[in-house]
Amino acid sequence: MKQVLRFFALAALGCISTAALAGEKYHINTHPIPDNTVLRGVRVIDGTGAAPMEDMAIVIHKKKIVAIGPNAQINTPRHAEELNWNGKTVIPGLIDGHVHLGLVLHDKAEGSADAYTEANVVGELYLYQRYGVTTVNSLGLNPDLVYDLRKRQRQGLIGGSRLLTAGRGIAIEGGAPPLTVKDDAIYRIKNPEEAREAVRAMAKQKVDIIKVWVDSLRGSRPSMNPAIYKAVIDEAHQHQLPVAAHVYYLADAKDLVASGVDILAHSVRDAGVDQELIDAMKTKGTWYIPTLAADESTFTYLDHPEFLDGTFVRLAAGPGLSARLADTVYEGKIAADRGTTIKRQDLAIAMQNLRRVAEAGVKIGFGTDAGAQPVRIPGVSEHRELQLMVQAGLTPMQAITIATSKSAAMLHQTDTGTIAVGKTADLLVLDGDPLTQIENTEKILGVWHNGQRVGELATK
Ligand SMILES: [Zn+2]
Repeated sequence: MKQVLRFFALAALGCISTAALAGEKYHINTHPIPDNTVLRGVRVIDGTGAAPMEDMAIVIHKKKIVAIGPNAQINTPRHAEELNWNGKTVIPGLIDGHVHLGLVLHDKAEGSADAYTEANVVGELYLYQRYGVTTVNSLGLNPDLVYDLRKRQRQGLIGGSRLLTAGRGIAIEGGAPPLTVKDDAIYRIKNPEEAREAVRAMAKQKVDIIKVWVDSLRGSRPSMNPAIYKAVIDEAHQHQLPVAAHVYYLADAKDLVASGVDILAHSVRDAGVDQELIDAMKTKGTWYIPTLAADESTFTYLDHPEFLDGTFVRLAAGPGLSARLADTVYEGKIAADRGTTIKRQDLAIAMQNLRRVAEAGVKIGFGTDAGAQPVRIPGVSEHRELQLMVQAGLTPMQAITIATSKSAAMLHQTDTGTIAVGKTADLLVLDGDPLTQIENTEKILGVWHNGQRVGELATK
């Protein structure tokens, strides 16, 4: 606790400070805050899906973008720091609509019911931010500490990625999720009335969204009775709260959409999405979050050991997880595990389904399930998700738009998600064009969040 408070104090003063995560010291460079910052000569991908604009200038005043235009036409205000980023690319900060905080002890690289501490959660928020993820929605399994953290962050007392939360979330006894968490991190309810009570309790805390776990995890646990999730959706909507559901099966997805759920928080993975679901989602305006990186996560580093060569992954993974991922015995186990075969099938179906819903014009949001397990590495998962979306057949522009303006719309965040005058200055400067190669989103030269430069990776 003392360390964390000291860290906040230093960060608030704009000094060079460090955050401990995964047992390693990470330097987070917070720069002295100028009145104004001008980013010159940049290619701007504004997040709306519009064509990139070359040789632009962006003026940031305090938290906001106050001017944007052709470089030659934008004057430098007084008391400004001018940065020449000629030819570099600017994109909006990424917005992850499906993460979990405080579920993993990073120094041990293992899940733990003891991981939801202030120091651990805040460390994760800083890590997301440093990797260009400037907003995260912690979609369930949060003890009530989350409300205090969110409040103090809004007061400017805590930094890191902007925290939105579904609080505890609602599940049935014996059902999904399979994780062991403390009693105050989830509502395990028995009937529709208890479900309504849980929604009301979280509405009182002003949660940003309601989360419900529906499916049977491939028949390994009981699934939620539809009467319960219908009660959750009805009660949440009475409190003007959107509902996101953990799904796997096409049949569940159809009934949830018909029942008015706002977000499917994972891909449909038991079957191809059909016209009936597509039509229903378009009619109802339901959002679809693919979470491809979550489906790939157990075998990502088995298939791509080269990802472990660079600092982009290792810095976020920390020494414990890096060593385990590089361990050949561990790799052999993963390769031989029957579960890996199932997950490969899940990912293949999820990618086909993403392409199908995208072509049909279903609303797609951005999410990764980062932080739910050690291998779902905060910050890294989001860049992998972009790559997998492109592998699934989306254009890099579509993937970036989903991860920025679309995700902002899904989460009702009107101040962020695009690069435009009046928006909060949440943006990344990249050393490479992500439209020609989506992997270039990993080449992060700088991150601005709430108008302040918060750090850079300098991974190359
Ligand atoms: Zn999740």
